[in-house]
Formats: sequence, structure tokens, C-alpha cells
Amino acid sequence: MLKIKEFNKIIVANWKLNGSNDFLEAYFEKLALKDIDSDICGIICPPITYFQNCYSKLNSLYLGAQDCSKFKDGAYTGEISASMLRENNCIFCIVGHSERRQVFKENNEDIKIKAAQLLDEKIVPIICIGETLEQKKMHKTHEVLKEQVINSLPPNSSKESVVIAYEPIWAIGTGITPTLEEINNIHKYLKKDIKEIEEYKLLYGGSVNPKNASDIMSLENVDGVLVGGSSLKADQFSEILKA
Ligand code: PEP
Repeated sequence: MLKIKEFNKIIVANWKLNGSNDFLEAYFEKLALKDIDSDICGIICPPITYFQNCYSKLNSLYLGAQDCSKFKDGAYTGEISASMLRENNCIFCIVGHSERRQVFKENNEDIKIKAAQLLDEKIVPIICIGETLEQKKMHKTHEVLKEQVINSLPPNSSKESVVIAYEPIWAIGTGITPTLEEINNIHKYLKKDIKEIEEYKLLYGGSVNPKNASDIMSLENVDGVLVGGSSLKADQFSEILKA
């Protein structure tokens, strides 16, 4: 398993349901990986069909998936297992993204099973948690995050093997972010007050772009970022990798 503790920052590109062969060619031609510090862990999570093409172009970056099946094998049409991901050079895998939780009705138990399957295959799960705007307005952020974390963590989880991504749902794809103080405080709460994830690598996600990436990543309790929209623009993602 990759030694995640050795990295200073972890920066994840979540392409979601985007890409094409032409997009890939143009993207990697434009992506500037030259001046990226060696202690930065850059990860590209494309749709699975582009795994091999991406892998051949990654250079120092790592390959990640956006999801995996909670089943190992069997009659589950359309599913892709953790072992299949491992056989295809996958090092990281996002699980429990809010789009999976909301659109595909995944719950904490599903996410816990997926994360356990990934750990069995020596793939690092990136477990996403985050509150809705309604929950934030009702001052339930801490309570919601704690409940998600505790119930999504597999029993074989450790700070060396699992990454957590805090992604306020209201900040994803909206161009709106919490203040720097809010991000740092929530990360502090997660890292210091929830014993189960003490000292885990903790990423922030939600409308990260080249303008705000440096400030966000300078925060004491932030170990990196998970990027959606801006990761689809090679020049913007290059800037974030260097932020
Ligand atoms: C995401 O997809 O997890 C995300 C953070 O998206 P965006 O950067 O576009 O808000």
C-alpha cells in the first residue's frame, strides 16, 4: 500500500462522468507536471474506461477510481470490484461522494463495506463526508460529520491507510466555499475531537480552484484538496498541483 503519511499534501482530480479519448490526449499534453514538489501526491480519478490510457500518461501522478462495488464478485451487472481496480493499477478510490450518497442512495454501511474491500486490495479509500446547507443552517454540521465518519470507517481502517475528504455539499460545484476559518475549524474538530480519525489525512473539497487552493492548503489542519470542476482544465489543475 502506498505510504500516504510521507506526503505533505494530497491533491485529487475527480473527473466524474466527463472525458473522451480526445479530451484525454489534449489534457495530458497541457498538464504541466515539471515543477511539482516530490512530497505532493497528485491523483487523477477518471471514468474507469480511461484507466489504461491515463495510466500510460500519468508520470508522477497516481491513478484513482471514483467508486467501487461493495461486492467481490458474482451476479451484479454493471459493477466493478476492488480487486479489478487493483489489477488495473488503481492506488486510490473515492467512496461515499455526496453524489453517490444522494443520487445512488448509498448509505454509511455501503461505504464502510466498500472501504473494507479496498483496504483488502491495498487501495487507499478516500472517504467523503459533508453536510447539506439545511443541516449547516440548523447547526448540525459537527453532529452529521461525526455520524458519517464513525459509521463509514471500516474496522481495519488506520491513519496510514485511509484518507477522509470533508466536502460540504453546498460548496460542491457552486463556486461558494466556507471561509478559511470555517474550513480550518471543521478540520480541527474532525482531527482532534473525533478520536476514531485522529491524525488521519484530511482533505477539503468544494469549489477549489487555482485562486483559493493555496490559501486552503496552507491551513494548519488541511492535508490537501479534492477538486471537481477545476480538475477538468489541465492548466487549472496544474496550478493547483503547484499551489
Ligand atoms: C467534487 O466533485 O467532489 C467537487 C469538490 O467538485 P467541485 O470542485 O466542482 O466543487
